[in-house]
Amino acid sequence: MAVIVQKFGGTSVATAEKIRGAASRAVEAKRRGYDVVVVVSARGHKTDELVELAREITSHPRPREMDMLLSTGEQESVALMAMAVHELGAEAISLTGAQIGVLTDTTHTKARIVSISTKRMQELLQAGNIVIAAGFQGVDAEMNITTLGRGGSDTTATALAAVLNAELCEIYTDVEGVFTTDPRLVPEARKVERISYDEMLELASLGAGVMHSRSIEFAKKYRVQLRVRPAYSDGPGTLIAPEPDEVTSVVTGVAFVRNEAMITLVGLPDQPGVMSTLFSSLSAARIPVDMVVQNVAREGTANVSFTVAEDELPAALTVAKATASSLQAEDVVATTGLSKVSVVGHGMQTHTGVAARMFQVVAARGINIRVVTTSEIKISVLIDRSRCNDAVQAAHSGFELDKATSSLPQVGRVSNGHRHGAIDAASPELTADIVSRLDSMESIVVSDITTDTNQSRVTLSNLPDDPGIAEAVFTAIAEGGVLVDMIVQNAARDGQATISFTVPRSDLDCAILLLREVMETYPGSVVTSDRSIGKISVSGIGLRSHTDVGARLFRCLAANSINVEMINTSELKLCVVISADEADLAMTQLRAEFGLGKSG
Ligand code: ASP
Ligand code: MG
Repeated sequence: MAVIVQKFGGTSVATAEKIRGAASRAVEAKRRGYDVVVVVSARGHKTDELVELAREITSHPRPREMDMLLSTGEQESVALMAMAVHELGAEAISLTGAQIGVLTDTTHTKARIVSISTKRMQELLQAGNIVIAAGFQGVDAEMNITTLGRGGSDTTATALAAVLNAELCEIYTDVEGVFTTDPRLVPEARKVERISYDEMLELASLGAGVMHSRSIEFAKKYRVQLRVRPAYSDGPGTLIAPEPDEVTSVVTGVAFVRNEAMITLVGLPDQPGVMSTLFSSLSAARIPVDMVVQNVAREGTANVSFTVAEDELPAALTVAKATASSLQAEDVVATTGLSKVSVVGHGMQTHTGVAARMFQVVAARGINIRVVTTSEIKISVLIDRSRCNDAVQAAHSGFELDKATSSLPQVGRVSNGHRHGAIDAASPELTADIVSRLDSMESIVVSDITTDTNQSRVTLSNLPDDPGIAEAVFTAIAEGGVLVDMIVQNAARDGQATISFTVPRSDLDCAILLLREVMETYPGSVVTSDRSIGKISVSGIGLRSHTDVGARLFRCLAANSINVEMINTSELKLCVVISADEADLAMTQLRAEFGLGKSG
């Protein structure tokens, strides 16, 4: 029989009445002929209350005891849910993570799933039960209770759907579905009918609160059809599924992380190994690095900036300071009070001017952009927190996300189809093959590593740190129809900003010409370029949240004395720009490092 997984979030099981409502959805699916597995979160604000209670006792609760404590929230919900199903005259049995057989690693409060045994669930389903599974929790090999991190019930649900080969995984929540942005902030935000895994992965990881980003990784890796739907009505919600062939909008959504902090290591020696040391230490502390920016070195020293969630700042700073002293950096600077706003969409791969448009709408509101990073399907800007709402609204209306279909005359389609340097995601077969070899369900899937040596780098330095700089630069470039690939704008030092980007080599001279006027507007600014660069892309799933991929990437490059000029990261791809002469060596070494055999 076909399996359906239904997950109910905290607000959808907050009261007895809501629990009854959820139970009747499960019973209804059962009567329609499905084998039903229900995954539940802790009721209402239960988890927050437990966290608070622990804080009243100690400021340093041990992670093991936190897991023991927090797992009780879900245990309460499953029992109540099973009772509610019984009341409706159907059979149900509740199970904790341990009873299901959710085996995790030992990282308390952020555990990753190693495996899930389906035996007991299958037997119970076959006997006619609705299985009620506690979300968010598992056990390690020693039977210690672990939890998957806040919001982890979504991950439990998609993981169960994956191992049970479910036809559908429904995520019942207190909103209509996935929105173009947070409707509390932008009332015109629209619910989207359908979104791809990649877009959802970026949106979730970039701050759209709808779903736990690790749950989307599972969904993509195992091709689980997900539907996010309201628990309170019959609304159809949003389908999260593979990317459709026709791109209908350039930008699908605007995400933001309100509380970001930035750390800059100043005056690092410009030599291979710097990024490796930094990333290894951050990875060991399991701190996901967000925007990473390394400037093109001048006078032998480089600065590296990266952002982390503000609540990770103390931990990240400790790591950064230790790293800085071992690398003999001049200084470590932390900046707080920042927000990150990102636009996400597949259409960017084939349309020029998206970056220019983003910078225009932000500049039009007088918002200063401190850092820019891009990936194939997103553009992120770091700005002052006080302007976060403004920037989100500006991006939302600037890309006409309030309209079902936007025309976007300002944005041009590239005639030859794909964005230069963009590589198609690994085929489903290839991914499936890799997945079948994984011994740990949440192991990384690095599915491909490719190189592009047909691009050039352009760097503009000594720019004033003013609103409108990025706009001026990329409007000029977009007017010439040049498709820009990676963009990195550094955190300004001493009031001066630097922007680097890559363009197809055949467009390099044109790009430099297009910049002439901009340069005249900003006296003192300098353009430099590197005609032959090598851009290496590591593609996969969940690359940023699995902090060790970056660490391995940089370690491998450092071991081969390869200097990194530019970096960008996303959940789907890590890209580095190195010198073109070293591209072959980097490819061979990296493919070996990630077990990928020789290319093409
Ligand atoms: N109860 C947990 C939390 O509040 C897990 C979840 O809701 O998904 O984070
Ligand atoms: Mg949740």
